[in-house]
Amino acid sequence: MSERAAAPHRAWQHPGLVEFGETIFAEMSALAIATNALNLGQGFPDTDGPIEILDAAQRALRGGLNQYPPLPGTADLRTAIAEHQQRFWGLEFDPVDEIVATAGATEALAASLLAFVRPGDEVIMFEPYYDSYAAGVALAGGVRRVVTLRPPESGDGPFTFDVDELRQAVSLKTRLILLNTPHNPSGKVFTRTELMQIAEVACERDLMVVSDEVYEHLRFDDASHIPIATLPGMASRTITISSAGKTFSCTGWKIGWACGQGDHIKAIRSVKQFLTFVNGSIFQPAVAVGLRLGDDYFDALASDLQGKRDRLLAGLRQVGFDAYTPQGTYFVTADIRSMGSDDGRAFCLALPERAGVVAIPSVVFYDTEAEGRHLVRFAFCKRDELLDQAVDRLAVLAG
Ligand code: PMP
Ligand code: GLN
Repeated sequence: MSERAAAPHRAWQHPGLVEFGETIFAEMSALAIATNALNLGQGFPDTDGPIEILDAAQRALRGGLNQYPPLPGTADLRTAIAEHQQRFWGLEFDPVDEIVATAGATEALAASLLAFVRPGDEVIMFEPYYDSYAAGVALAGGVRRVVTLRPPESGDGPFTFDVDELRQAVSLKTRLILLNTPHNPSGKVFTRTELMQIAEVACERDLMVVSDEVYEHLRFDDASHIPIATLPGMASRTITISSAGKTFSCTGWKIGWACGQGDHIKAIRSVKQFLTFVNGSIFQPAVAVGLRLGDDYFDALASDLQGKRDRLLAGLRQVGFDAYTPQGTYFVTADIRSMGSDDGRAFCLALPERAGVVAIPSVVFYDTEAEGRHLVRFAFCKRDELLDQAVDRLAVLAG
């Protein structure tokens, strides 16, 4: 637990959420608007997704699909999710009882944690971790245990973890491992060897794995995404989660899903019915269209983003940042010590004023502050002109 836990309880707060304030994404996007800065903080694209899904949503809106969809999601969306899982990853799910559509991956994560974590149960997650994980565990009354992903000591390369630290984090109270690959914010794509190590621990200690794969199509160079559910012994103990937001550039639509074995999905559906019940009647058919687009769409998405990654990386390095090359996602992590600061929070709060750019202080994704204090995250899912403009502005930091 971080020192944030010491904060006093306020009347308007859920008692489980005392250590959490406003999410960093809301805070930094508000700062970007207030200061008219270029927002490379919160991860959302600044262009629309494929025209086919926009047309499909419009048809649904005009076609009378404006009432509650079925609790588990429309049959057609669940079929499209099953087809997509089979086509890209060879995973087989029965759309009838092994898939549930959710209000974004966020609801799939929250409903999974509320379904499987009992008060006092421990959940292992890799830090830096996406902010809703810690809150979801807290809402379920669980306790988080973190295993640190570290950048290389010097030079460029992927973040890695020590498998002994993972083994030591497991106790008799551990219920599940929360995994995210490709990983926000580090840009790491877990390798088969690493996933095998995690799977081995899960099988040995009889743990479930909740695997957040929202960036499944955003991977670069020769990195391949491997759903942990495909590894031996894992299908029956894994909940595989994804969403349309990143794959189809529609983060505001909030259509996500969870796939797993029937009893697990039944448990998630039973929680979900009291969270949102359902959402997105006009977006569900549109996402089904997206999931059935040809391979060319998915290939172009990744190669286009790879170009943006290279553009921002080159710019950041030119300005003087030590930046780690991400293998996936649309985020770059930079070490600001080369810019004369080791306090990412102060650095990001001052950045709009100094350079007219917003970034995210990675320390908010860590329990172990020392591991992330000097790291900041920039999003590159933006038009090339905007990335260039941001780099031009950041040049002021080079002095
Ligand atoms: N998981 C990760 C790792 C994310 O970065 C995000 C942010 N979009 C989410 C989950 C939430 O996804 P959604 O917007 O579909 O709820
Ligand atoms: N997933 C996005 C990010 O990490 C934003 C999510 C949010 O705003 N809650 O930046």
